[in-house]
Amino acid sequence: MNKYNESLCEQIAPGVYKINEFGFDLVFLIVGTEKAMLIDCGTGLADLKSFVKSITDLPLIVVATHGHADHIGGMIQFEELYVHKKDMIVTRLNKWLRKWSANRYKSVLVRNNISLKDIPKRECRTRLLPLSEGQVFNLGGKTITAFFTPGHSIGHMVLRDEEDKLIFVGDNVADDVWMHYPFTVSVEEWLDSARRIKELSEGYEIWWSHKTGKLSMEHIDKSIQVGEKILNKHKKNTFFKSTKVFKDEETGFKMRYRTDRIFK
Ligand SMILES: [Zn+2]
Repeated sequence: MNKYNESLCEQIAPGVYKINEFGFDLVFLIVGTEKAMLIDCGTGLADLKSFVKSITDLPLIVVATHGHADHIGGMIQFEELYVHKKDMIVTRLNKWLRKWSANRYKSVLVRNNISLKDIPKRECRTRLLPLSEGQVFNLGGKTITAFFTPGHSIGHMVLRDEEDKLIFVGDNVADDVWMHYPFTVSVEEWLDSARRIKELSEGYEIWWSHKTGKLSMEHIDKSIQVGEKILNKHKKNTFFKSTKVFKDEETGFKMRYRTDRIFK
C-alpha cells in the first residue's frame, strides 16, 4: 500500500499538523486533549488513517472544507464525515472520481512512487453528517468553529481553531481560484464569502489546502481584487457557459470562472 512518511508531515502549532498528500493537497490534523480533528482527508492515495493513528489515538472527527475529490476521497477509511448539506451530492459523486482526479497528475504519482493499484480500499460505508454555520467542536483545550463560505463550491466551509489562532480556508481564496467547476456559486457571491473570510482571518494564521498552504492577508486582498476586476469587466451573465481565465497583471493572481455565473 502507498505510504505516508514523516517528511510529509509538519507541526504548524502545538498539536496541529499539516500533512502533505504527495503534493496533491494538504490535510490538517488538530489534536486536543479529548478528541482530534482531521480537516479534509485528501484524495485517499495512501493510508491516512494509520498515519493519523501514529500521531494520536484519540477519537477522530473528520470534516471537509468542501466536497471535491482531493478533499474527501480519503473518506473511504472513515466511518463519518462532516460536510455542508449543499456539498453532499458533489461529495458522493467525487468519491468515485478520486482515481480519475489523481490520474490527471501522472508525473506527481510517478515522482512520489504512488501506484493507483496500491491506494487503500474502501473500509466502510461512510456516513455524511451535516456541517453548518456556527457549529462548534470541542476537542478539549481546542475549540473549532465552522463558517459557511459558499464560493469554490456551493457548500464550502472554513474552519477556525480559536485557541491556536489558525484559520483553514480550503480552496476559497488563493493565487488561483477555481470557479469554473459545476456546483460553484457566482463570482459575486464568492466575493461576499472572500470578504467574510478576510474578516474572519483578522488575527489568525491563514492556511489553504494546496502548495505550501500558508497565506497572508495580502493574498486574500489580491484574491478579492481579482473577483472585483472580473465583476467590473462584465455587465451581465451570458446565457451559455464559457470558461475564462482572468489573470491580474498587477499581482499575477488568477481566477478561472464561467461567464454564465458571474452575477447572482
Ligand atoms: Zn476544491
